[in-house]
Amino acid sequence: MLSFFSKSVLFIGFSSILSCSTGNTPVKSEAHGTQTDIQAVQDTTEKRIFISAVGDCMIGTNYPSANLLPPNDGKDIFRDAAPYLQKSDLAFGNCEGGFLTGEGPVKKCSDPTKCYAFKMPDHYINHFVNAGFDILSIANNHVGDFGEVGRINTKKVLTAAGLYYAGLTSCPTSTFEKDGVKYGFCAFAPNNGTVNVNDISNAKKIVQDLDKICDVVIVSIHAGGEGSGFRHLTNSNENYLGEKRGNPQEFAKAVIDAGADIVFGHGPHVPRAMDLYKGKFIAYSLGNFATYARFSLKGQAGYAPLVTIEVNKKGDFISGEIISFIQEGEGGPTLDAQGRVAKDIKDLTEADLPSTKLSIDSTGKISIKN
Ligand SMILES: [Zn+2]
Repeated sequence: MLSFFSKSVLFIGFSSILSCSTGNTPVKSEAHGTQTDIQAVQDTTEKRIFISAVGDCMIGTNYPSANLLPPNDGKDIFRDAAPYLQKSDLAFGNCEGGFLTGEGPVKKCSDPTKCYAFKMPDHYINHFVNAGFDILSIANNHVGDFGEVGRINTKKVLTAAGLYYAGLTSCPTSTFEKDGVKYGFCAFAPNNGTVNVNDISNAKKIVQDLDKICDVVIVSIHAGGEGSGFRHLTNSNENYLGEKRGNPQEFAKAVIDAGADIVFGHGPHVPRAMDLYKGKFIAYSLGNFATYARFSLKGQAGYAPLVTIEVNKKGDFISGEIISFIQEGEGGPTLDAQGRVAKDIKDLTEADLPSTKLSIDSTGKISIKN
């Protein structure tokens, strides 16, 4: 049974590696045998942390037309999801587009009628903050749709809002402390200006550095081919439209070997299987979550999982739950009474990873197999 801590946030950055946050260097909680350290060990093993995660969020673009923005200026997009995000200790999502109210140099498209370039108005960041998000990945194929102008403005908007973010080569990591837990976050994608998901040795180095100073290291990957043909894991390097989209399984296990505690994947626009590796949770794709107007939402592309996992202070998985949302019409997640995405991820996990230690029931409850 999940229960949740209330939100109260204390953010502390560190400066030992290139980071999107600044401030004091956290010192990892360790035990060395003194009375104080015995208490620390008990805290480590007993504390429960609830972390929620969703996949792609692009809640309305003013390019090529402001007609593509949602009703009520986007204020209702996260209405159904917000209670779940707010009651967790930390909430993560992938920001599948940058923030830029004004003009910027749009990416080149061979066919302008099929050019998908996204920029959310700056004030749409308030919808993420009000919904309860703490961490956003900006490592994906849309953060650079408006070049360096868009990337710089996106970082400015996220920083001003007090959100933690990572994934560009100019800000590969973020660290912060909350409720006595020191977190590290990093994000990877195959795209220009992002930290390369195909460079596994660099990813391991980044994670090792975070692991030295953080209790829980969260890794985000935007990886794998896109669409209904890419629902299943392949355990190989995946290509899509000429782009090397990484080997999600090889990457996830490598970063866990290097000290990562949780891997949240997204990018395929459809859900994929979940796994447990060395006691650490992996979601290979959280699909679309809040993608307004410019995304196909047919079939599983409309399935919008919100996963909440319970971990201890060492980042070991304890239990979890998939809450089923669905995007219909132009998009925006609403609760799905049929629980479709929970059943889909259960089926995908059983089909692709029959020997996984993770058990998912048809209502979305996630547990460790006996
Ligand atoms: Zn993408």
